[in-house]
Amino acid sequence: MSRIEHNMAMTGDSPASISGKQKLATGLGLSGLFILALALFNVNFPNKTLFLSLALGLITIGTIIFANDAYLGKHQGINNNGVWFKSTTNRGLWGWVAGIALTLFYVVLYWYPQYLGLNPDGANTGIIALFDPLSRLINGGPASQWFVYGTLYTLAILIFGYKFILKYRHNRYEVLRTFSVMFFQLGFAFLIPEILIRLNKPYYDFKNIWPLNYDLFAGYKIQEFLSAGNLGMFMLIFGVLSIFVITPILTYKYGKRWYCSWVCGCGGLAETAGDPYRHLSDKSLFAWKVERWVIHSVLVFVTVMTIAVVYSFLGDDSQSYWLTKDVFLWASALLLTIVFALIMIFKRDELAKDAKYGAISYFAIIMAIIGINYFSGNYKIFFFDGYQLRQWYGFLIGAAFSGVIGVGFYPIFGSRVWCRFGCPMAAILGMQQRLFSKFRITTNGGQCISCGNCSVYCEMGIDVRAYAQKGENIVRSSCVGCGICSAVCPRGVLKLENGSRKNRIHNEESVMGDNMDLMDLIKQSSK
Ligand code: SF4
Ligand code: SF4
Repeated sequence: MSRIEHNMAMTGDSPASISGKQKLATGLGLSGLFILALALFNVNFPNKTLFLSLALGLITIGTIIFANDAYLGKHQGINNNGVWFKSTTNRGLWGWVAGIALTLFYVVLYWYPQYLGLNPDGANTGIIALFDPLSRLINGGPASQWFVYGTLYTLAILIFGYKFILKYRHNRYEVLRTFSVMFFQLGFAFLIPEILIRLNKPYYDFKNIWPLNYDLFAGYKIQEFLSAGNLGMFMLIFGVLSIFVITPILTYKYGKRWYCSWVCGCGGLAETAGDPYRHLSDKSLFAWKVERWVIHSVLVFVTVMTIAVVYSFLGDDSQSYWLTKDVFLWASALLLTIVFALIMIFKRDELAKDAKYGAISYFAIIMAIIGINYFSGNYKIFFFDGYQLRQWYGFLIGAAFSGVIGVGFYPIFGSRVWCRFGCPMAAILGMQQRLFSKFRITTNGGQCISCGNCSVYCEMGIDVRAYAQKGENIVRSSCVGCGICSAVCPRGVLKLENGSRKNRIHNEESVMGDNMDLMDLIKQSSK
């Protein structure tokens, strides 16, 4: 009997359909989502605690069963079979459906929370009311849209983190850092801030560092800290130390990975829930150029905005308080000048031409803004009120970029769009990583077979293979040290290391294997 071969692709058949267990798991997970969808459409469940537990429980159990069946029955090792053939992971119909649904969710979350059931003047309805019992249990009050979001966000990191751990269980680095992001999200980003609210203390996520936490120095936040006694003062001091002491030291020792791949919630979601989409990142040189200009512009924006916000609530009277508007403005200008001068004096050889021009122009822009502000005697920067600037930043960067584009577009542009193009924290850490860090990815070029796995699965769009082929160290500002390039390399070419800074970038001793004189090497080592 003849058999019709529908698939003419040389790469083989499209992926087999899912197993019976996976179908059951999908059914359970979708049932949980269905309860949430009913709540969204205002179904008033009689026992909210029961139905919320059912919804979250079914989603969790469904994901665990699916992940167990997908990975535990197979040999350990990377399992990315068929990612380019699945509609969900190759920008097919289901990918677009997921992207659009996520984007719409973010739009409603940020700008129309009333449609989720938020009612600040009375009892909540809809999906927010479904989360009221959990919110009362943890923080003592009714839920808000941010509580619902925080719970679902944390759940996503936990359950997809579990899946990620099974998938990469042969790799200790991946397992450890996934436990780390799960711990920081659950403890530091979700539970501690909610418990602080219950204790009538300021809401504070200790791992959310300025400029990611752009509200840290807003007037209302400073007032909250100052009126919360010793704990409030500790939070404020910790926030400042995180910027000027903790971050530089850790980045010097380990590169930006200590934050972006081990601690940060945005990175946590990208690495876990976003893992199936990491290969969708744009690897083109054009994207690299856009990335550098956009991310550093966001950093300039947040710096100017923060200076404007702090400036606007400081006083003029030096008799009552030493930190006046003028002192602050000059101190900011001095700090920026010192940083700029140090980079230009000691590190200019490590900067590409466009990076030098970029740094000079950004420095000139910030100084001009501060100068205009000072000499015009105006408390507004560029004639905009500091808080108005903050509102725009919140709308454009904090909401539209980080949420709507950053997460909503996972299935279209890959999982790290925000971290790569928009996050000002990543920009600062990236500068430190490139210029003042011991971190690099070393490449044993002679072993590379140019398969391209590393470049494909680099979520930051770095063409890792190009470095490996040349046996060159990878020292890129954008590298988040996720280690996936190294994990997927079939030849063990890539290694994440913290070592001496000598020859870290221009590595003249790179070993290509195929272009060196091995006899000469033997003679040298026997001397
Ligand atoms: S170069 Fe490697 S470690 Fe760095 S972001 Fe890309 S995949 Fe992760
Ligand atoms: S995955 Fe390894 S062998 Fe393949 S191109 Fe990258 S460095 Fe070379």
